[in-house]
Amino acid sequence: MADTVGFIGLGIMGRGMARNLLKAGFDLRVWNRTASRMDELAAEGAHPTRDPADLAAQCDLIFICVSDTPDVEAVITGDHPRGVIHGLRPGALVVDMSTISPHATRALGARLAAKGARMLDAPVSGGSEGAARGTLSIMVGGAAEDVERARPAFAAMGKTITHVGGPGDGQMVKLVNQILVVGNALAMSEALLFAQAGGLDLRKTLDAVKPGAAGSWMLANRGPQILERDWRPGFTIDLQQKDVRLVLDAADQLGVPVLTTAMIFNLYRTLQAEGLGAEGNHALIKALEKLANLEVRAAAPPQ
Ligand code: NAP
Repeated sequence: MADTVGFIGLGIMGRGMARNLLKAGFDLRVWNRTASRMDELAAEGAHPTRDPADLAAQCDLIFICVSDTPDVEAVITGDHPRGVIHGLRPGALVVDMSTISPHATRALGARLAAKGARMLDAPVSGGSEGAARGTLSIMVGGAAEDVERARPAFAAMGKTITHVGGPGDGQMVKLVNQILVVGNALAMSEALLFAQAGGLDLRKTLDAVKPGAAGSWMLANRGPQILERDWRPGFTIDLQQKDVRLVLDAADQLGVPVLTTAMIFNLYRTLQAEGLGAEGNHALIKALEKLANLEVRAAAPPQ
């Protein structure tokens, strides 16, 4: 019999991912801390639940996509509201798709195993656009048989599903991904500031460099937003800051230098200090604009 599926955390990412599970025909239970966020999906056929324990009691396969390490710990092991661990069915598989600490992931896996449940870490990349379109890149850590069990659901949410290693390794690969993401964001910011200072047509500049060797997801998706000074988040500065912190923590444990990433961590800190934590991560450019006393903005299109 097919697993009954649950989804915890209907934020920017989770709501798109849960919707794609529904569209693929899964019988879906949902829970979100802010209950009103369940309404939209309930209207589309999902079944709201009272708390994570209630959801777990109804599901064999439980997906989680919440913000940070303490939040995943709360929805799995918490008492108020009651966490997944208080309602687990025997043999349930818990799949954490949030980006959190690899070390904490392994500890949570051990706690779930002690209750007869299984765990995968399966963080994602591809932004809010990828979550909505079902084209995420999913990097999975855990046992091969559990990956196969979750694969039909992963296929509804993502295009590339890579089993990268054992418990926690999905999170480690996600941190590799984040080193690349913030490096791209900084390079994009410097390049656009340089183009502005040089008096270039910024739209034509983007069109010229996007398809070549300098192209990136960041440039294609967030470059145009910068030109319009549209700071709406696909991924907030606060969450980006959290991911860079996870990289620095892990790099410290490994004893490996991450020079650019550490500098970007501090640039994001300055933006948070200015109260910009809820803006998109591409607002990194504002930190550089301040240094140059120059604003990047595309000229109004000719009438
Ligand atoms: P978001 O829009 O801020 O949503 C966060 C979700 O987590 C909300 O449903 C929130 O509930 C819930 N939550 C937070 N703390 C909680 C707690 N203590 N207990 C219960 N629920 C809690 O964030 P998002 O952009 O969807 O990101 C979610 C995860 O995906 C993060 O780990 C992020 O790093 C990762 N991610 C995001 C992106 C992206 O582009 N956005 C890409 C890849 C990975 P409420 O509705 O009650 O606030």
